[in-house]
Amino acid sequence: MEITCTACGKEISPLELYDGTWSCPRCRNLLIDQQSELKVTRENEELFRQGELLYAQWLFNRDGRANFSLVEKAISLCRRSARLGNPKAIARLGYYYDKDYIGGNFTETMRVKLAYTYYSQVCFSGLNEVETPPTIKMNWMDVCRQTAQAMLFMLSQAPAEVQDSKTYNVKANLERLRSNFGEDFNFSGHSSGYYKLSNKERLFSMLLACVDKKRAPLFGAVRLTVGEVKEIYERSWPGDDKIESALGYIAKKVFISFIKVADLGSSSGMFNRLGTSSSFERMFDDLDESDMIWLFFFNNNGGHKYLGSKGKRKKVNSVLYENGVASDTLKRLLQFGQTSFHAFYDDDIYQYSQQKSLQDATRALIDQVCSGGGSE
Ligand SMILES: [Zn+2]
Repeated sequence: MEITCTACGKEISPLELYDGTWSCPRCRNLLIDQQSELKVTRENEELFRQGELLYAQWLFNRDGRANFSLVEKAISLCRRSARLGNPKAIARLGYYYDKDYIGGNFTETMRVKLAYTYYSQVCFSGLNEVETPPTIKMNWMDVCRQTAQAMLFMLSQAPAEVQDSKTYNVKANLERLRSNFGEDFNFSGHSSGYYKLSNKERLFSMLLACVDKKRAPLFGAVRLTVGEVKEIYERSWPGDDKIESALGYIAKKVFISFIKVADLGSSSGMFNRLGTSSSFERMFDDLDESDMIWLFFFNNNGGHKYLGSKGKRKKVNSVLYENGVASDTLKRLLQFGQTSFHAFYDDDIYQYSQQKSLQDATRALIDQVCSGGGSE
């Protein structure tokens, strides 16, 4: 998708960074969502509707038969619609952050705050009406109230540190909403019904995407139980009746290794390679289902726009793995990276590579993730 960068004025295809933000590949400035005024148009409604369809397609086939790239496309369409001011798309982006569909490197607190910025744009807009073409039916007040309920539910489940803050406190927000919607407005206590993504689901989708010819993940790490790995190991390739495990198949192409979380701090801290079906089966035999592990992957397959050559990817890999052993940098990511799911694309390395070697760019990226901030 080509858009115009507001910083350098060039037509660009944006970098999509690990925290869900977009950046300009020419000048490396972040593309801040330039929100236009809230309004429904035929164009933004169509983008929103297409996104909803893709999300629904994935949702109803999510046990492995549909690729997660459907959701990524859905989010991309939704974001475009939101930029054009469609309030339903803005609320939906809130849901996508709320339910953990976007990126994977947010702490719970960051995620709630991001979702809040979208939800609140809709339910605190203060508008009595929103311009809508006569051919499109929308009850604006219903959209506001539904968005408000989703927001309140999210805040009611948020970590204590978020709830303690005045901005994100449930009661304070309810009071503000009542002054908009009337005194009879109440928090229903129900969730929006949106499905929350698990790490298991993410890992499976992420590994399937490793062979994507256009945009494949470069490396990542997921913390989950051995039992969860076993569950996805039992799935076959989507749309394929062959008995072969999709995970076993991918492991032949993508470098996968693991370490028990409890062993991460120990002096040896050796990772175990998962390269064949038998190595998975050995892991299932040796460990308990409830054991927590970090599973790491590095992907040399698929499409990598900015790191197309193997030599470049090798430089990134050398920072994470040194002579077949996980480096201190990788261990640091797992220990201090603040979340249980990390996934990075070549876009992320590129964002940090200005006047730096690829090795230094990789370290800078991991520093950023460990410091708990998103892209700056
Ligand atoms: Zn630019």
